[in-house]
Amino acid sequence: MKNITFALIAAITFLASCSGNGDKPATTETVEPEIQKKDTLIAIQDCQHKMPTYIFAGQNDKLLHEILPDDYIDNSINVFLLERGDKNILFDAGLGTSQNGRLLEKLDSIGLQPDEITDICITHFHGDHIGGLLTADGEAVFKNAKLHFSDMELEIWTVGVLKDNETVDKMLKAYDGRYETFHAGDTIIDGIVTIAAYGHTPGHTMYDIGETLIVGDIMHAIDLQIEHPEISAIYDFNPVEARETRISVLETARKNHKPMAGMHFPAPHIIKL
Ligand SMILES: [Zn+2]
Repeated sequence: MKNITFALIAAITFLASCSGNGDKPATTETVEPEIQKKDTLIAIQDCQHKMPTYIFAGQNDKLLHEILPDDYIDNSINVFLLERGDKNILFDAGLGTSQNGRLLEKLDSIGLQPDEITDICITHFHGDHIGGLLTADGEAVFKNAKLHFSDMELEIWTVGVLKDNETVDKMLKAYDGRYETFHAGDTIIDGIVTIAAYGHTPGHTMYDIGETLIVGDIMHAIDLQIEHPEISAIYDFNPVEARETRISVLETARKNHKPMAGMHFPAPHIIKL
């Protein structure tokens, strides 16, 4: 922990599932209430979906059937909002309203409009993470926000093997002049440390906000992969690298007692090992 006064997260508010009718936060849970509030990290479920368990097949199928016996598991697409000082920082942006993502209505339910988002830290360029940056017409949803993403991720999706992706190209056009790249390891926006977490995509990045790690897509099924981090999903671009990253991140989180906020973790979306 770099600076204890700025590293404390006083309150973590969990917003209701996007499939429910309630637009207000369903549950409020206060963590470490004796600590003076410095940052607020809010987990927002953009959408819930059924994820097929065959994405883990072919590695240890006996174990897979024991732990995940059904064809599908309930999964989640999450976005995290960090309120730090005068900044409203999003981590990823979910699927987008045109894909039934509910980020914007949930932000509205806590009194925050898209124009009030100051920064958006992107873990990687998959559509369920950047789709929410764009309207159905390809315009920027967040008119005052600066995007932050890794130089490696930008390179692979623009001149590397993943180039010519429609959503990525639209994002870069819509936010032209309003994005900044970092090199993994750099510190950005008021002390957020960027960490290489390669494998899921070649430039997949985690963020250490002080008290919590925003871990992106290092795991797609926590029931399986916390105990068996050696198992990768077919969504992982480089399954071997993803496995090494997952093992190392879990070790770090355990050793440092750091909660992990995951973009596909089920409610409450932030876990502590
Ligand atoms: Zn994802």
